[in-house]
Amino acid sequence: MSDGILVINAGSSSSKFSVYINRQNGDLDLTCKGQIEGIGVDPTFVAKAPDGTILGEHRWHAHVDRTNLLSYLLGWIELHLGSAELKAAGHRVVHGGRHYSAPALVNELVLEVLENLVPLAPLHQPHNLAPIRSMAKLHPGLPQIACFDTAFHRSNGFLATAFALPRWLLDEGVQRYGFHGLSYEFIAYRMRQIAPGPAAGKVVVCHLGSGASMCAIDNGRSVASTMGFTALDGLPMGTRTGQLDAGVLLYLLQEKHMSADEIQRLLYHQSGLLGMSGISNDMRLLMSSGDPHAKEAVDFFIYRIGRELGSLAAAMGGLDAVVFTAGIGEHSAELRARVLRENAWLGLAVDNDANTRGEGCISPAGAVCSAWVIPTDEELMIAMHTRDVLKARAAAE
Ligand code: ADP
Repeated sequence: MSDGILVINAGSSSSKFSVYINRQNGDLDLTCKGQIEGIGVDPTFVAKAPDGTILGEHRWHAHVDRTNLLSYLLGWIELHLGSAELKAAGHRVVHGGRHYSAPALVNELVLEVLENLVPLAPLHQPHNLAPIRSMAKLHPGLPQIACFDTAFHRSNGFLATAFALPRWLLDEGVQRYGFHGLSYEFIAYRMRQIAPGPAAGKVVVCHLGSGASMCAIDNGRSVASTMGFTALDGLPMGTRTGQLDAGVLLYLLQEKHMSADEIQRLLYHQSGLLGMSGISNDMRLLMSSGDPHAKEAVDFFIYRIGRELGSLAAAMGGLDAVVFTAGIGEHSAELRARVLRENAWLGLAVDNDANTRGEGCISPAGAVCSAWVIPTDEELMIAMHTRDVLKARAAAE
């Protein structure tokens, strides 16, 4: 009998899931992925095969609580798996704090530690933890593995994580953590397979999606990243500011008399590409728009990538390769070409044909610093961690 692994990436109003079959030889085969959307209103469920064929759909015409939605999902997966048995669930959890540099097998104690981290990621952590609690009730014997967006960056040293604040604040955990770690870990893993030479060197990975960040990875280990105490810092994003002088917050509080909630909405939901352009947070729309504010927003995004590229190269003392990933990084040849051309001083260059094809190496042979497009797969990374924790657990028994 083969084993099923469920991966859950739960957000505030939607939850994504994927199901993998863990083969005897350790291979993980995706059998379906889908999502539940409209949680809290009229939820919808859809599950698709890897080729996009719809395997299941459902719509509720009233509010259904999260535990009942999860119960529906588990029932559907059981039918879908047929003779295979669900052996574990891996969860994306945004914050593992200082404690976790690797995935954790969840028990009551671990859940308590993770709940104590809610103040560090109030918009995400509670939604990540809710299905873990529900699953423990619905399927008490099922091992659950928490995989953290911060864990990959625990290798960052003091200088890369500190703020120049009084010690008492550093001591209580006010520091840079970095996020998107599951994506960076997956890229480091894929790079070792497809480009072992550059993977052993100094690499900057640009995760450019609606959330965007960059990470300096030296010989497979995260050295520094652009996101900080929260996922607000660094690059401008779809609707988030990115790097911002803290003095602006004082101005908003003291001169504009804005409340904390208003400032939170401004920084997370009304800024970034959307705020600057006044048009959209969708990079496709902005790049095809003739509006001068759309152009400024795109130019600013590219400019900030260049600034961070220099900073991350400095953190590693060199640069051998740059990788583009996530929605914008994987799909916008124009943006990649501009980043590479505008940062030619770092030894970067673009091979136009390869860049248009958009996968693998996109720099010309002999470039001082190579450039790559590598699709990320955070769900597969979680499934791999879950498989490995199960294996270690079985070996220890
Ligand atoms: P998320 O962070 O939500 O997972 P994605 O990685 O899916 O986001 O990236 C979403 C972003 O990718 C959007 O801003 C979208 O406009 C952008 N995007 C997708 N395809 C393209 C494209 N061909 N050109 C430019 N941007 C693109």
